[in-house]
Amino acid sequence: MSNQSKSSGVSRRGFLKALGVGGAGLLVPAGAAAQERVPASGPGELATLLDLSKCIGCGECVLACREANASKFPEPAKPLPAPLPSGRAKNEDWSDKRDLDDRLTPYNWLFIQTAEVEHGGQQWEINIPRRCMHCENPPCANLCPFGAANKQRNGITRISDKLCMGGAKCRAVCPWHIPQRQSGVGLYLHLMPRLAGNGVMYKCDRCYQRVDQGELPACIEVCPEGVQTIGPRKEIIEQAKKLAAEMQGYIYGLEENGGTNTIYVSPVPFDKLNQAVAKGPGRPHLGPVKDTMADETNLATATLLAPVAGIVAGMIGAGAALFGERPVDKEDRHEK
Ligand code: SF4
Ligand code: SF4
Ligand code: SF4
Repeated sequence: MSNQSKSSGVSRRGFLKALGVGGAGLLVPAGAAAQERVPASGPGELATLLDLSKCIGCGECVLACREANASKFPEPAKPLPAPLPSGRAKNEDWSDKRDLDDRLTPYNWLFIQTAEVEHGGQQWEINIPRRCMHCENPPCANLCPFGAANKQRNGITRISDKLCMGGAKCRAVCPWHIPQRQSGVGLYLHLMPRLAGNGVMYKCDRCYQRVDQGELPACIEVCPEGVQTIGPRKEIIEQAKKLAAEMQGYIYGLEENGGTNTIYVSPVPFDKLNQAVAKGPGRPHLGPVKDTMADETNLATATLLAPVAGIVAGMIGAGAALFGERPVDKEDRHEK
């Protein structure tokens, strides 16, 4: 028997009223009408809550993500330049596999994992939308040697396609190995095509332009089941704890990697889900994660890198202008 809890049946208006929120304190559940807005500024970091008891795995969110972000997808120059050092570096080319939707790629920033598990004497099918967790203290941003990955004040972590050299440090240090590389695009082609970098890294940027306009991220807006809710981090955490208590469920993302801005609530323990889902490159796990940036070596590296990355970003920006690229500005560095 498959078991998925049903929607609470509380209307959206009633839901907001019951929470007593509005304006800057807005919590916006999935399936919200298009006119509903995310606060563009004010509440600090925004977080998302995903109620896994509601997800039916329809994939509408995956399609919406592709459509909303299609203009950001890479268009590599071919043939791809041979990477150096040969034998150690290799090109990664997803441009002929743009339709792949069962893992993360530079052209697919969100996918659905499915777990079939037994729990509490019942069989469950749990669908889990997976993308960047938007960590509180993101190692991808703290340890990027080029200053290409940054965290905005509203909690969104982004990788600039104008600054990224595709060295994939972000993927190596991300506990879920989320960013995915496309070779044959980016500044490395102009600056050091055979010596440094190997493309550009791509991942969910939480639809930052839409959020800046006060709109919902595409995957949240389109969901027919109201799986996701977005709002100020503190309120999302309260909501997640309340939901978990109501369903006698479990939370993922609150403590993992020191805390993230993506909070999953599930009626089935995450260690069971983690055992059941397909894992590997582009298919992140759901296991325990210690706080990466609490590691002394990483802390020291981040401290050393912070000023260097800024200088390198400036130099790369100058290089971009020299080679006819649009000059790198504050927008690219996410200095907002
Ligand atoms: S659109 Fe909603 S219900 Fe459908 S797969 Fe995505 S999160 Fe799940
Ligand atoms: S999940 Fe990975 S890519 Fe996303 S913010 Fe955290 S460290 Fe960065
Ligand atoms: S927030 Fe935007 S970029 Fe991220 S998965 Fe959803 S639709 Fe895609």
